[in-house]
Amino acid sequence: MARYTDRGLILRRFPYGESSLIIHVLTESFGRVHLVARGAFRAKSKLCGLLDIFDTLELTWSQSVQSTMGELQEGQLKTRRRDLTRDLTRYQTALAGLELASTAAREGLPDRSLFELLDAFLDYTSDSTRVPAIELLAFDLALLAGLGLAPVLDTCASCGNSAAPVDEAGARAAFSAGAGGRLCRKCATEARAQGVRVGTLGVEVLSAAAILSLRSAAERAALPPMPEDLFRRLRDFVDRFLEYHLETKLRSRPLPVATS
Ligand SMILES: [Zn+2]
Repeated sequence: MARYTDRGLILRRFPYGESSLIIHVLTESFGRVHLVARGAFRAKSKLCGLLDIFDTLELTWSQSVQSTMGELQEGQLKTRRRDLTRDLTRYQTALAGLELASTAAREGLPDRSLFELLDAFLDYTSDSTRVPAIELLAFDLALLAGLGLAPVLDTCASCGNSAAPVDEAGARAAFSAGAGGRLCRKCATEARAQGVRVGTLGVEVLSAAAILSLRSAAERAALPPMPEDLFRRLRDFVDRFLEYHLETKLRSRPLPVATS
């Protein structure tokens, strides 16, 4: 039995037996880890009341090399984010972030940047000066980028050349999730001929996604409020792109729309 200590964020929790809990944890150094917390519901247990979602914990567990499940020995609270459980919009937004991180986190695949991304997202979402809906969009786009799946937003995803709008008014661009993003007219025509699904998206939606992808957290907080119609279209675009590339239906979405 080896013994490990690491910071972690609980992705999912399941009751186990009468008084125990199984937790799926995104750790800083070991990737996704599955642990049984024996007696976690007993009032006398030192684990009682500790294992809440949204909090950053420091956990110590033992695990044999052959086993896919470790045994939690002890834990300490590092960052409590109780505010997330007091506001329904922030709570649902944080849950949506956990669900997405859970989809991306793999056992045996350390991913420090995913841990840091989720840890920071939970901080921002509990910050009353920030707009949770915008923080989730930025989190989604950063997570896609971390997986090497960021949508190509300003040039052609296929040939790399500039991708001009495809309508006379200059308002819409050809876009294909399967091709990885925006397409120029020539590549859009070729992709359609090969049976790839190509649609069109408002250029302003792609620009808004690019802004959220590039800005730092401090810059994001200083952005003017996003018009609700633009937010809805951007949210829809990012959800479709996530579901296409992660091959999953995200249960915790769609979320209530609140852009301020
Ligand atoms: Zn092209």
